[in-house]
This record gives sequence, C-alpha cells and structure tokens, in this order.
Amino acid sequence: MNGPTPQAMNSAFGDLGPDAQPGTGIHGRPSGIHRLSLVLHPDPILRTVCEPVETFDSTLRDVADEMLALMRRHSGIGLAAPQVGLRQRLIVASIENRPFVLSNLDVTDSSEPRNLVEGCLSLPGVQVNVRRPERIRVTGYDLHGQRQSFSAAGLWARVILHELDHLNGVLICDYDPPADEPSRHGAQELLAMLAEEHTPQSRMEVSQ
Ligand SMILES: [Zn+2]
Repeated sequence: MNGPTPQAMNSAFGDLGPDAQPGTGIHGRPSGIHRLSLVLHPDPILRTVCEPVETFDSTLRDVADEMLALMRRHSGIGLAAPQVGLRQRLIVASIENRPFVLSNLDVTDSSEPRNLVEGCLSLPGVQVNVRRPERIRVTGYDLHGQRQSFSAAGLWARVILHELDHLNGVLICDYDPPADEPSRHGAQELLAMLAEEHTPQSRMEVSQ
C-alpha cells in the first residue's frame, strides 16, 4: 500500500546503501538504490526541513542521476530530494539540456523580485504566481563535495529558488496572492481537492 520500498523512500541517503533491499535502477541495471518515485502533496515529507548532505559518495551521485531521470520523465525542469522522499538538501535541475545538481545550497544575495506563474511536480494541476528575485548569488556543493559559488538569473534563478523552498518545506501554494490578482485565489481550493484525491499511496500510480 505504501509502495515496494516505503522505508527507503522515507529515509536518508545513509539508509540506501548496499545493505538496503536490492533494487533495479531506472535503466534496468542492478542498483543498490531503489527506484525513486514522485511524492505528491499532502505527503508530510514535503513539509520537512531537510538535513545537509554530509557524504559525497557514489550513492549520492546515483540518487542525483535517478532524480534527473525522474524529473525528465515528468517533463519537469527541477526536482528537490523531498519530492522523492529523501530528507536531504539536494536539488537537481535541467534547462535546455543542461543538467545541474547542487547540495547544501544557500542564496546569499538577491535583486528586485518579479512575478511568474509556477507549477510543481508534487502539486499536479496547481499553478501559482510567485514573486521571486530575478538575479541571485548561490553557494553550495557539487556531487564531489566541492564548494561552488555562482550567479544565476532568469529561469535558472527561479528554479533554484523554487527547489530551495522545497528543502525548507515550503510549497508554491504557500505564497499569498497579491490583492490585485484575484484569479489566483483558486490555489487553496485546488489544494483542498488534491488533498482528498491524492493519498500518500497514490505515489505508486505516478511512478508507473
Ligand atoms: Zn516543486
């Protein structure tokens, strides 16, 4: 009822090593990592403040690869670890075929905000106009534990901020609509419907 490996999906990376139940990778190859699947609202893990990544090993790299593959299967451009049931500060993104992975990220500087409608793979059917800065300064760590510091703008900045929100348990439905945009008031009603439609078990339907 909770899928083939609920304990793995709800655990940290440290529980996904070779001693975990054997699984099969996304491309059919044998893997110590369980096939990841998408977690939908209102799964409580989407409200978790995630823990920093501390071990930069092949398991982490496999998880990032599987997250990228899962994200592409769902036509997404960004995905955060809690969206696959992992409480780790890890995000992946890909815009115009440029894959990107970052952990333990922090946005240290930002510019004037701008509104743009966003969707989220964990909130199917929900679109919210979210106000975010157009330019940000990002620090974080790559898959080898090397510290990275760079500027991001436009869609890249927006995706990084959206995924960073996930690591802090924040979803797009948490952004209040401004008074001059009454069309956005349907977001909470949509979420109430989703809460009824999608029990945590429904993740299995999505993963197929
Ligand atoms: Zn999202």
